Amino acid sequence: LAPTPYYYTQARDARLLLRKRDRFSNKGSFGHALLLVGSYGKIGAAVLSARACLRSGVGLLTVQVPACGYAILQTAVPEAMCLPDTDEHYLTGQSAVDSLPPATFSTLGIGPGIGKNPGTLTMLRNLLPTLEKPIVIDADALNLLSEHRDLLDKLPRNSILTPHPKEFERLTQPWANDYQKLDSLRDFAKKYKVVVVLKGAYSAVATPDGDIHFNSTGNPGLSTGGTGDVLTGILTALLAQGYDPIEAAVLGVFAHGLAGDKAAEKRGPVGMTASDVIDALSWT
Ligand code: AMP
Ligand code: MG
Repeated sequence: LAPTPYYYTQARDARLLLRKRDRFSNKGSFGHALLLVGSYGKIGAAVLSARACLRSGVGLLTVQVPACGYAILQTAVPEAMCLPDTDEHYLTGQSAVDSLPPATFSTLGIGPGIGKNPGTLTMLRNLLPTLEKPIVIDADALNLLSEHRDLLDKLPRNSILTPHPKEFERLTQPWANDYQKLDSLRDFAKKYKVVVVLKGAYSAVATPDGDIHFNSTGNPGLSTGGTGDVLTGILTALLAQGYDPIEAAVLGVFAHGLAGDKAAEKRGPVGMTASDVIDALSWT
């Protein structure tokens, strides 16, 4: 009998994946992440992803935001270093990507709040072929991939994509039922050799081998602006620490949902916000 390709992530699975910290560690032991996030009016997405990244164990974090976000980011997230883009309102990659070699960073996360400015597309186009290690791709970075499909072949192998259903539909095509949706999720992950987190209740993590891990944590209180940005920060931190991308996705999605459940215990699903989810993150 062939083993089933379906898994259901529960607390004991997450506990096995979580690494202990070595007593003789230093911040260099846990990677240096780069977040490419935010645009005018959406610097909050940059702040949320950065805070979540820092709450998930990254050693060092650099955040590149459009120039208009510089003071906001430095004030809201003092633990992060900040690279202001040369463009006032959008990310164009001028500064981080041009002045620092990608080798400076262990990984990067791109997407939350970035918008679809032509300069941002050019940045993505220039950036992807230079990358050798898996990255995290979310939000409008995914929408740019949907609209410029040649870029899909340039994704670093085993990168983690985190679409919500609408973003996934843009990447593939509409589905008639949940079976078709899962088939196209699996096909996409295999075809492009990426890890895809299809977000929602029981978020499904599809691997390049065609396995699907359903998540057990989370609640409808997470259906509020900014919670996806939090997930991007978490996953970027885990990749920076050297977690294998499948393990990072399974563990990160579990921890995100668990934090959502803790936030809901305190505030109720109606009262909780994405910031409450960050506050509730716990890696014990
Ligand atoms: P986004 O749509 O990008 O803001 O991401 C929303 C985040 O909240 C994802 O991690 C979803 O899995 C999570 N989420 C949203 N609604 C629910 C729900 N009803 N149950 C569990 N998780 C949810
Ligand atoms: Mg989102």
